[in-house]
Amino acid sequence: MKKTILITGASRGIGAEIARAAGKADYKVGVNYLGSKAAAQALVREICDSGGEALALQADVSRLDDVERLFCELDAAYGPLDVLVNNAGKLANFRVDTTDESNLSGLFGVNMFGAFYCSREAIRRMSHAHGGKGGCIINMSSVASRLGGLSGGAAYAASKGAMDAFTLSLAKEVGLEGVRVNGLRPGLIETEIHEMHGGLAHVRELAKSLVPLGRSGTAAEVAAVALWLASDAASYVHGAVVDVSGGR
Ligand code: NDP
Repeated sequence: MKKTILITGASRGIGAEIARAAGKADYKVGVNYLGSKAAAQALVREICDSGGEALALQADVSRLDDVERLFCELDAAYGPLDVLVNNAGKLANFRVDTTDESNLSGLFGVNMFGAFYCSREAIRRMSHAHGGKGGCIINMSSVASRLGGLSGGAAYAASKGAMDAFTLSLAKEVGLEGVRVNGLRPGLIETEIHEMHGGLAHVRELAKSLVPLGRSGTAAEVAAVALWLASDAASYVHGAVVDVSGGR
């Protein structure tokens, strides 16, 4: 029977590549997006045209009511959830001395609260304690959690440090209930998230000096590891945070 995967923030970048890979791996794919409806629908068409099954689902993961609706829509379309990828995230570029309620809560709302809200809904469906059949949660962190991020990246790095702690703690909480929880720490990956830092040209230049492999990574290289973590091949991998960073 086909498994169901929900990927938050899947309209572009790393999330979109995970969705493509999941479509090829015969999952029913929930493609969540915030505002990029056309991109999400185009991706769904692409997956379906290749023989897969996918559905675009709008929701702001930083809002609990949106997340509840998102999971209900997924239930109605695909039934029980098997894999959640907490991928939605955004970058921020502000010094700590310019912090205000808006820039800080906006960032943590997506990067951290979103992962809590989505995990809450996923566990209520997957956990043996709730009558579920088990499942898998993958949290998208960043090497910023251990390196401190690029300039102006304190809030981003802190949100990803929180994500790592969340992964370890959640793994302890739900491991005996059939839910495997792991994290991924990408390094410099070529996506639109870097527009605020000079775009891809800047990322490729930075990677030459910062990354032991001497290059930036692709979203597909992250997606391959996410699909492995979700698979039975990783059945004894739990509470791990896997670097996908070219050695950085
Ligand atoms: P992109 O900016 O390319 O894509 C971000 C995605 O998140 C989009 O699909 C966007 O949707 C979605 N999104 C943003 N806010 C929300 C929200 N409130 N609710 C739902 N969806 C939302 O980012 P990447 O693909 O580069 O990054 C994906 C993840 O990987 C992030 O968590 C990021 O921190 C992490 N990461 C990325 C690295 C990199 O170098 N690229 C390195 C380390 C970690 P929409 O298009 O509709 O706005």
